Amino acid sequence: MNLDEQISYYEEKVRQGEKTYSKASPGMREHVYASEVFPYKAILRSVRLKAGVPICWGNIECLAYPLSRCVAGQHETCKEHEQACFLCVPTA
Ligand SMILES: [Zn+2]
Ligand SMILES: [Zn+2]
Repeated sequence: MNLDEQISYYEEKVRQGEKTYSKASPGMREHVYASEVFPYKAILRSVRLKAGVPICWGNIECLAYPLSRCVAGQHETCKEHEQACFLCVPTA
């Protein structure tokens, strides 16, 4: 698979995972998210990065196309994470 194919492949995986997640019973949701949604989102982001496609740095799970920068002007983010940039918010 070339990078473009990998991107579509993982986009589809995320879609399927989110579908499973939305139908999962409340007790199973966390597990479904951790095993079927989050890993594919993470892979998709790294494949996009490799392909030179900009990604939002405001949130580790964000798949939106970055259209602006965070309030500190340091990182590319989507509109939603402009004010809540993960990299700028101290985690400790
Ligand atoms: Zn974002
Ligand atoms: Zn930032």
